Amino acid sequence: MNIILLGPPGAGKGTQSARLVEKYGMRQLSTGDMLRAAVKAQTPVGMKAKAVMDRGELVSDEIVSELIDAELAAMSAETGAIFDGYPRTEAQAESLDSLLAKHGRNLDHVIELAVNEDALVERITGRFTCVNCGTGYHDKFAQPKVEGVCDNCGSTEFKRRPDDNEETVRTRMAEYRAKTAPILPVYESRGIVSRVDGMAGIDEVTAGLGNLLG
Ligand code: AMP
Repeated sequence: MNIILLGPPGAGKGTQSARLVEKYGMRQLSTGDMLRAAVKAQTPVGMKAKAVMDRGELVSDEIVSELIDAELAAMSAETGAIFDGYPRTEAQAESLDSLLAKHGRNLDHVIELAVNEDALVERITGRFTCVNCGTGYHDKFAQPKVEGVCDNCGSTEFKRRPDDNEETVRTRMAEYRAKTAPILPVYESRGIVSRVDGMAGIDEVTAGLGNLLG
């Protein structure tokens, strides 16, 4: 099974992808995570992408499609893929079609996490993760049980994404509206789009995805 999770920043794509990975043994292909890893490792791609990401704009279609190509090439054909944060433009959607064909895969579902944009700024600017295990938290909605200590691994180090500030978030949302939302009709015409209410609680959203994916 190969699926795209679509939705503006903060819709819950990363959170839900992690759950699908656990439940179905699929692989999460997050171009945002790949780019952040490249920035951290100071690779040529990372050095090019950093300033663009800090502004909340989109990096080039070629860069992200090459990252996805490399990941698909390294995956076993039996492992399903969750595309998280990709494709984000019409050109990327076209590249994905070619890449799926090249790697012998079909696109089964495009799932839109439908959210109220007004709530997203608060969701995003409050989020932080454990440096050690990556568990996600939120200042208002999901504090660790013991303040300053990760519930999952006990680490006391947390981090925030540099692009999770209000100004950048607004640019990221504008990019989503202008460049990413227009790719939905292409998939609608193929009859593979479903919607899940991304404003529901995390477990409810997971249940909604489970109903769709079986
Ligand atoms: P994300 O983690 O998906 O929110 O992505 C963080 C940032 O990485 C975005 O604001 C973009 O600058 C960049 N990025 C991630 N995925 C893509 C993509 N598919 N196309 C272009 N830029 C991307």
